[in-house]
Amino acid sequence: MIIVVSPEAAPGDIDHIVARIEESGRQAHLSVGAERTIIGVIGSDSPELLDTFLVLPGVESVHQVTKPYRLVSREFRGDDTVIEVGHGVTVGGGELAVMAGPCSIENEEHIFESAQAVKAAGANILRGGAYKPRSSPYAFRGLGEVGLRYLAAAGRELDMPVITELMSTSEIDVVCEYTDIIQIGARNMQNFMLLDAVGKTRKPVMLKRALSGQIEEWLLAAEYIVAQGNPNVILCERGIRTFETAYRNTFDINAIPLVKELSHLPVIADPSHGTGKFGLVEPVAKGAIAAGADGLMIEVHDRPDHALSDGAQSLTYERFAGLMRSVAQVAAAVGRDISAVGVAAGAR
Ligand code: PEP
Ligand code: MN
Repeated sequence: MIIVVSPEAAPGDIDHIVARIEESGRQAHLSVGAERTIIGVIGSDSPELLDTFLVLPGVESVHQVTKPYRLVSREFRGDDTVIEVGHGVTVGGGELAVMAGPCSIENEEHIFESAQAVKAAGANILRGGAYKPRSSPYAFRGLGEVGLRYLAAAGRELDMPVITELMSTSEIDVVCEYTDIIQIGARNMQNFMLLDAVGKTRKPVMLKRALSGQIEEWLLAAEYIVAQGNPNVILCERGIRTFETAYRNTFDINAIPLVKELSHLPVIADPSHGTGKFGLVEPVAKGAIAAGADGLMIEVHDRPDHALSDGAQSLTYERFAGLMRSVAQVAAAVGRDISAVGVAAGAR
Protein backbone atom coordinates (compact mmCIF):
# COMPACT_ATOMS: atom_id res chain seq x y z
CA MET A 1 0.00 0.00 0.00
CA ILE A 2 1.18 3.53 -0.75
CA ILE A 3 0.21 6.66 1.19
CA VAL A 4 0.53 9.98 -0.60
CA VAL A 5 1.12 12.79 1.89
CA SER A 6 -0.73 16.05 1.25
CA PRO A 7 1.52 19.02 0.37
CA GLU A 8 -0.39 20.90 3.11
CA ALA A 9 0.40 18.30 5.80
CA ALA A 10 1.34 19.86 9.15
CA PRO A 11 4.75 19.21 10.68
CA GLY A 12 4.39 16.07 12.73
CA ASP A 13 1.74 14.50 10.46
CA ILE A 14 4.32 12.27 8.77
CA ASP A 15 5.68 11.07 12.14
CA HIS A 16 2.12 10.28 13.19
CA ILE A 17 1.38 8.35 9.98
CA VAL A 18 4.63 6.37 10.36
CA ALA A 19 3.80 5.59 13.99
CA ARG A 20 0.37 4.28 12.99
CA ILE A 21 1.90 2.11 10.26
CA GLU A 22 4.36 0.63 12.75
CA GLU A 23 1.59 0.13 15.30
CA SER A 24 -0.19 -2.02 12.72
CA GLY A 25 2.88 -4.31 12.61
CA ARG A 26 4.04 -3.04 9.20
CA GLN A 27 7.08 -1.07 8.09
CA ALA A 28 7.11 2.44 6.60
CA HIS A 29 9.48 3.52 3.79
CA LEU A 30 9.59 7.24 3.11
CA SER A 31 10.31 8.70 -0.30
CA VAL A 32 10.66 12.47 -0.22
CA GLY A 33 10.20 13.77 -3.76
CA ALA A 34 10.46 17.33 -5.08
CA GLU A 35 6.67 17.67 -5.09
CA ARG A 36 5.35 14.98 -2.78
CA THR A 37 6.28 12.69 0.06
CA ILE A 38 5.13 9.13 -0.43
CA ILE A 39 5.10 6.48 2.28
CA GLY A 40 5.33 2.83 1.25
CA VAL A 41 3.62 0.45 3.68
CA ILE A 42 5.46 -2.85 3.74
CA GLY A 43 3.35 -5.77 4.91
CA SER A 44 0.03 -7.29 3.92
CA ASP A 45 -2.66 -4.96 2.52
CA SER A 46 -6.32 -4.93 3.49
CA PRO A 47 -9.27 -2.67 2.54
CA GLU A 48 -9.90 -1.90 6.26
CA LEU A 49 -6.35 -0.70 6.70
CA LEU A 50 -6.67 1.48 3.61
CA ASP A 51 -9.71 3.18 5.16
CA THR A 52 -7.88 3.67 8.46
CA PHE A 53 -4.91 5.41 6.83
CA LEU A 54 -7.15 7.51 4.59
CA VAL A 55 -8.60 9.42 7.55
CA LEU A 56 -5.25 10.25 9.20
CA PRO A 57 -4.36 13.97 9.19
CA GLY A 58 -2.02 14.91 6.34
CA VAL A 59 -2.99 11.99 4.10
CA GLU A 60 -3.99 12.96 0.55
CA SER A 61 -4.69 9.49 -0.85
CA VAL A 62 -3.99 5.80 -0.23
CA HIS A 63 -3.41 3.28 -3.02
CA GLN A 64 -3.29 -0.45 -3.11
CA VAL A 65 -0.16 -1.50 -5.05
CA THR A 66 -1.05 -3.69 -7.96
CA LYS A 67 2.44 -5.17 -8.46
CA PRO A 68 4.26 -7.57 -6.14
CA TYR A 69 7.23 -5.19 -5.95
CA ARG A 70 6.56 -1.88 -4.21
CA LEU A 71 9.52 0.34 -3.39
CA VAL A 72 11.00 0.03 -6.87
CA SER A 73 7.67 0.62 -8.65
CA ARG A 74 6.64 3.77 -10.49
CA GLU A 75 3.52 3.75 -8.34
CA PHE A 76 5.74 4.34 -5.32
CA ARG A 77 7.85 7.02 -6.96
CA GLY A 78 6.97 8.96 -10.07
CA ASP A 79 10.33 10.76 -10.45
CA ASP A 80 13.30 8.92 -11.93
CA THR A 81 15.86 7.87 -9.34
CA VAL A 82 19.21 9.57 -9.87
CA ILE A 83 22.17 7.89 -8.19
CA GLU A 84 25.44 9.60 -7.27
CA VAL A 85 28.20 7.09 -7.87
CA GLY A 86 31.22 9.20 -6.89
CA HIS A 87 33.68 11.55 -8.63
CA GLY A 88 30.70 13.78 -9.49
CA VAL A 89 29.12 11.15 -11.78
CA THR A 90 25.41 10.35 -11.63
CA VAL A 91 23.38 7.51 -13.16
CA GLY A 92 19.74 8.08 -14.15
CA GLY A 93 17.59 11.12 -14.73
CA GLY A 94 18.31 11.66 -18.41
CA GLU A 95 22.10 12.01 -18.33
CA LEU A 96 23.94 9.28 -20.16
CA ALA A 97 26.45 7.18 -18.17
CA VAL A 98 28.99 4.98 -19.93
CA MET A 99 30.81 2.22 -18.03
CA ALA A 100 33.69 0.76 -20.00
CA GLY A 101 36.83 -1.31 -19.52
CA PRO A 102 38.05 -4.86 -19.82
CA CYS A 103 35.94 -7.85 -18.80
CA SER A 104 38.66 -8.82 -16.30
CA ILE A 105 41.35 -6.79 -14.60
CA GLU A 106 44.42 -8.53 -16.08
CA ASN A 107 47.36 -6.66 -14.56
CA GLU A 108 48.18 -3.22 -13.20
CA GLU A 109 49.52 -1.69 -16.39
CA HIS A 110 46.64 -3.01 -18.48
CA ILE A 111 43.87 -1.56 -16.31
CA PHE A 112 45.63 1.84 -16.21
CA GLU A 113 46.06 1.86 -19.96
CA SER A 114 42.44 0.73 -20.47
CA ALA A 115 41.20 3.44 -18.11
CA GLN A 116 43.07 6.12 -20.05
CA ALA A 117 41.74 4.84 -23.37
CA VAL A 118 38.09 4.58 -22.34
CA LYS A 119 38.20 7.96 -20.62
CA ALA A 120 39.76 9.58 -23.68
CA ALA A 121 36.90 8.15 -25.77
CA GLY A 122 34.31 9.61 -23.38
CA ALA A 123 33.44 6.90 -20.84
CA ASN A 124 32.77 8.22 -17.33
CA ILE A 125 32.85 4.99 -15.26
CA LEU A 126 35.61 2.33 -15.32
CA ARG A 127 34.67 -1.35 -15.23
CA GLY A 128 36.81 -4.42 -14.51
CA GLY A 129 36.14 -7.80 -12.92
CA ALA A 130 38.33 -9.24 -10.15
CA TYR A 131 35.99 -12.09 -9.13
CA LYS A 132 34.81 -13.67 -12.36
CA PRO A 133 31.86 -16.03 -12.75
CA ARG A 134 33.22 -18.47 -15.36
CA SER A 135 31.35 -21.42 -16.84
CA SER A 136 34.47 -23.57 -16.53
CA PRO A 137 36.41 -23.86 -13.26
CA TYR A 138 39.61 -24.02 -15.36
CA ALA A 139 39.10 -20.62 -17.00
CA PHE A 140 40.72 -17.41 -15.65
CA ARG A 141 38.72 -16.51 -12.55
CA GLY A 142 40.12 -13.07 -11.80
CA LEU A 143 42.91 -11.53 -9.71
CA GLY A 144 40.81 -11.10 -6.57
CA GLU A 145 41.84 -8.41 -4.08
CA VAL A 146 45.06 -7.53 -5.91
CA GLY A 147 42.96 -6.74 -8.98
CA LEU A 148 40.61 -4.59 -6.92
CA ARG A 149 43.60 -2.56 -5.75
CA TYR A 150 44.72 -1.95 -9.34
CA LEU A 151 41.18 -0.99 -10.37
CA ALA A 152 40.72 1.45 -7.49
CA ALA A 153 44.12 3.03 -8.17
CA ALA A 154 43.29 3.47 -11.87
CA GLY A 155 39.94 5.04 -10.95
CA ARG A 156 41.66 7.45 -8.55
CA GLU A 157 44.33 8.37 -11.06
CA LEU A 158 41.83 9.01 -13.86
CA ASP A 159 39.19 10.56 -11.55
CA MET A 160 36.57 7.96 -12.52
CA PRO A 161 34.23 5.91 -10.32
CA VAL A 162 34.76 2.16 -10.69
CA ILE A 163 32.42 -0.82 -10.87
CA THR A 164 33.27 -4.45 -10.17
CA GLU A 165 31.37 -7.66 -9.52
CA LEU A 166 30.71 -9.09 -6.06
CA MET A 167 30.01 -12.83 -6.22
CA SER A 168 29.71 -13.79 -2.59
CA THR A 169 28.92 -12.28 0.79
CA SER A 170 32.36 -13.35 1.99
CA GLU A 171 34.00 -10.68 -0.23
CA ILE A 172 31.58 -7.85 0.55
CA ASP A 173 33.93 -5.88 2.82
CA VAL A 174 36.89 -6.01 0.48
CA VAL A 175 34.78 -5.16 -2.58
CA CYS A 176 33.11 -2.24 -0.75
CA GLU A 177 36.54 -0.94 0.26
CA TYR A 178 37.73 -0.61 -3.33
CA THR A 179 34.68 -0.04 -5.52
CA ASP A 180 32.21 2.79 -6.07
CA ILE A 181 29.48 0.57 -7.57
CA ILE A 182 28.91 -3.09 -6.70
CA GLN A 183 27.89 -5.23 -9.67
CA ILE A 184 25.62 -8.20 -9.00
CA GLY A 185 26.09 -10.47 -11.98
CA ALA A 186 23.41 -12.23 -13.98
CA ARG A 187 24.14 -15.56 -12.28
CA ASN A 188 23.49 -14.06 -8.85
CA MET A 189 20.33 -12.06 -9.59
CA GLN A 190 18.34 -14.33 -7.31
CA ASN A 191 21.03 -14.97 -4.70
CA PHE A 192 18.79 -13.53 -2.04
CA MET A 193 21.37 -13.57 0.78
CA LEU A 194 23.74 -11.58 -1.43
CA LEU A 195 20.94 -9.13 -2.29
CA ASP A 196 20.13 -8.68 1.41
CA ALA A 197 23.82 -8.10 2.15
CA VAL A 198 24.32 -5.37 -0.48
CA GLY A 199 20.99 -3.89 0.64
CA LYS A 200 22.52 -3.35 4.07
CA THR A 201 25.28 -1.19 2.56
CA ARG A 202 24.67 2.24 1.05
CA LYS A 203 26.88 1.58 -2.00
CA PRO A 204 25.27 1.93 -5.41
CA VAL A 205 24.47 -1.55 -6.73
CA MET A 206 24.08 -2.50 -10.39
CA LEU A 207 21.81 -5.54 -10.64
CA LYS A 208 22.13 -7.48 -13.88
CA ARG A 209 19.18 -9.39 -15.25
CA ALA A 210 19.52 -13.16 -14.91
CA LEU A 211 20.04 -15.37 -17.95
CA SER A 212 16.42 -16.50 -17.68
CA GLY A 213 15.15 -13.74 -15.44
CA GLN A 214 11.65 -12.49 -16.03
CA ILE A 215 11.05 -8.74 -15.66
CA GLU A 216 9.00 -9.28 -12.51
CA GLU A 217 11.67 -11.50 -10.95
CA TRP A 218 14.30 -8.89 -11.77
CA LEU A 219 12.30 -6.08 -10.17
CA LEU A 220 11.59 -8.25 -7.13
CA ALA A 221 15.33 -8.89 -6.84
CA ALA A 222 15.87 -5.10 -6.88
CA GLU A 223 13.13 -4.84 -4.23
CA TYR A 224 15.21 -7.10 -1.94
CA ILE A 225 18.04 -4.56 -2.02
CA VAL A 226 15.85 -1.49 -1.56
CA ALA A 227 13.78 -3.17 1.18
CA GLN A 228 16.99 -3.51 3.23
CA GLY A 229 17.36 0.27 3.11
CA ASN A 230 19.65 0.80 0.10
CA PRO A 231 17.78 2.87 -2.51
CA ASN A 232 20.80 3.12 -4.85
CA VAL A 233 19.96 0.39 -7.34
CA ILE A 234 20.75 0.48 -11.07
CA LEU A 235 19.27 -2.20 -13.33
CA CYS A 236 21.24 -3.69 -16.24
CA GLU A 237 19.78 -5.52 -19.23
CA ARG A 238 22.52 -7.89 -20.45
CA GLY A 239 20.60 -10.24 -22.73
CA ILE A 240 18.65 -13.37 -21.97
CA ARG A 241 19.03 -16.96 -23.05
CA THR A 242 16.64 -17.96 -25.82
CA PHE A 243 16.45 -20.72 -28.46
CA GLU A 244 18.72 -18.63 -30.71
CA THR A 245 22.32 -19.79 -30.88
CA ALA A 246 23.58 -17.43 -33.59
CA TYR A 247 24.81 -15.12 -30.83
CA ARG A 248 25.64 -15.55 -27.15
CA ASN A 249 22.46 -13.99 -25.72
CA THR A 250 19.38 -12.24 -27.05
CA PHE A 251 19.53 -8.58 -26.05
CA ASP A 252 15.97 -7.84 -24.92
CA ILE A 253 15.41 -4.28 -26.07
CA ASN A 254 11.75 -4.47 -25.01
CA ALA A 255 12.92 -4.65 -21.40
CA ILE A 256 14.28 -1.10 -21.48
CA PRO A 257 11.10 0.89 -22.15
CA LEU A 258 9.03 -1.59 -20.12
CA VAL A 259 11.23 -1.36 -17.04
CA LYS A 260 11.35 2.43 -17.34
CA GLU A 261 7.54 2.35 -17.28
CA LEU A 262 7.28 -0.06 -14.33
CA SER A 263 10.11 1.30 -12.20
CA HIS A 264 11.80 4.59 -11.30
CA LEU A 265 15.25 2.94 -11.19
CA PRO A 266 17.85 3.72 -13.90
CA VAL A 267 18.48 1.07 -16.56
CA ILE A 268 21.86 0.43 -18.18
CA ALA A 269 22.23 -1.60 -21.39
CA ASP A 270 25.07 -4.10 -21.75
CA PRO A 271 25.24 -4.98 -25.46
CA SER A 272 28.63 -6.70 -24.93
CA HIS A 273 27.17 -9.63 -22.97
CA GLY A 274 23.83 -9.06 -24.71
CA THR A 275 25.29 -10.09 -28.05
CA GLY A 276 28.65 -11.77 -27.37
CA LYS A 277 29.93 -10.51 -30.73
CA PHE A 278 31.98 -7.34 -31.13
CA GLY A 279 30.39 -6.49 -34.48
CA LEU A 280 26.92 -6.33 -32.94
CA VAL A 281 27.83 -4.18 -29.95
CA GLU A 282 27.65 -0.73 -31.58
CA PRO A 283 24.32 -1.13 -33.42
CA VAL A 284 22.66 -2.66 -30.35
CA ALA A 285 24.11 0.10 -28.13
CA LYS A 286 22.57 2.72 -30.41
CA GLY A 287 19.21 0.93 -30.32
CA ALA A 288 19.28 0.70 -26.52
CA ILE A 289 19.95 4.42 -26.10
CA ALA A 290 17.18 5.26 -28.56
CA ALA A 291 14.87 2.98 -26.54
CA GLY A 292 15.56 4.99 -23.38
CA ALA A 293 18.48 3.30 -21.59
CA ASP A 294 20.20 5.54 -19.05
CA GLY A 295 23.60 4.39 -20.21
CA LEU A 296 25.82 1.59 -21.40
CA MET A 297 28.24 -1.00 -20.14
CA ILE A 298 30.82 -1.87 -22.80
CA GLU A 299 33.75 -4.30 -22.67
CA VAL A 300 36.92 -2.89 -24.19
CA HIS A 301 40.33 -4.53 -24.76
CA ASP A 302 43.40 -3.35 -26.67
CA ARG A 303 43.99 -6.86 -28.03
CA PRO A 304 40.70 -8.79 -27.89
CA ASP A 305 42.40 -11.95 -29.21
CA HIS A 306 44.62 -11.93 -26.09
CA ALA A 307 41.88 -11.06 -23.56
CA LEU A 308 41.72 -13.37 -20.54
CA SER A 309 37.91 -13.36 -20.79
CA ASP A 310 35.20 -12.26 -23.24
CA GLY A 311 37.56 -11.27 -26.07
CA ALA A 312 34.96 -12.08 -28.75
CA GLN A 313 32.69 -9.32 -27.53
CA SER A 314 35.38 -6.79 -26.60
CA LEU A 315 35.86 -3.64 -28.65
CA THR A 316 39.32 -2.32 -29.47
CA TYR A 317 40.02 1.24 -28.30
CA GLU A 318 39.37 2.53 -31.83
CA ARG A 319 36.06 0.70 -32.15
CA PHE A 320 35.00 1.93 -28.73
CA ALA A 321 35.79 5.53 -29.70
CA GLY A 322 33.69 5.01 -32.84
CA LEU A 323 30.82 3.62 -30.76
CA MET A 324 30.94 6.68 -28.50
CA ARG A 325 30.70 9.02 -31.47
CA SER A 326 27.73 7.26 -33.02
CA VAL A 327 25.95 6.78 -29.68
CA ALA A 328 26.36 10.53 -29.08
CA GLN A 329 24.63 11.21 -32.39
CA VAL A 330 21.71 8.92 -31.52
CA ALA A 331 21.48 10.36 -28.00
CA ALA A 332 21.37 13.91 -29.35
CA ALA A 333 18.74 12.88 -31.92
CA VAL A 334 16.45 11.55 -29.18
CA GLY A 335 17.00 14.57 -26.92
CA ARG A 336 19.26 12.98 -24.31
CA ASP A 337 21.76 14.84 -22.16
CA ILE A 338 25.24 13.72 -23.16
CA SER A 339 27.18 16.37 -21.30
CA ALA A 340 28.43 13.87 -18.71
CA VAL A 341 30.16 11.65 -21.24
CA GLY A 342 33.13 13.38 -22.77
CA VAL A 343 32.82 12.49 -26.42
CA ALA A 344 35.75 13.96 -28.31
CA ALA A 345 35.22 17.50 -29.57
CA GLY A 346 33.81 17.71 -33.06
CA ALA A 347 32.63 14.13 -32.84
CA ARG A 348 29.06 15.08 -33.38
C1 PEP B 1 30.58 -9.19 -16.69
O1 PEP B 1 30.08 -8.04 -16.60
O2 PEP B 1 31.75 -9.39 -17.02
C2 PEP B 1 29.69 -10.37 -16.45
C3 PEP B 1 30.20 -11.53 -16.06
O3 PEP B 1 28.40 -10.11 -16.71
P1 PEP B 1 27.07 -11.05 -16.61
O4 PEP B 1 26.85 -11.27 -15.15
O5 PEP B 1 26.03 -10.18 -17.25
O6 PEP B 1 27.34 -12.31 -17.39
MN1 MN C 1 32.51 -10.15 -19.38
